[in-house]
Amino acid sequence: MTTTTDPTDSRLGRGVDDEPRPQQETYLVLSDEEKAKGFVRPVRTTYRHTSCGSTTTMAQAIAETYARDPKFYGGTYCMACKMHRPVSEFVWDDETEVGS
Ligand SMILES: [Zn+2]
Repeated sequence: MTTTTDPTDSRLGRGVDDEPRPQQETYLVLSDEEKAKGFVRPVRTTYRHTSCGSTTTMAQAIAETYARDPKFYGGTYCMACKMHRPVSEFVWDDETEVGS
């Protein structure tokens, strides 16, 4: 899995899954320039899927994108379910809602 700052990258996927599938080949993240404007949330790398109880640890660039813009992603991946699900189904390991 890699990350890209190019929103037109053809490898990017969209939306959430109803069936298990692999992670996307690459995920969109904010540029260093954008992140340098400041984080509005702590940088947290682990979230828990409330539907299954499993935790997933993400790449640092994605964690920093959430910290800069908590609403940047509409869905995120659960390693246990092997699906992208709406961020509203996830909480950070400090129990705060992902995406808020
Ligand atoms: Zn899950």
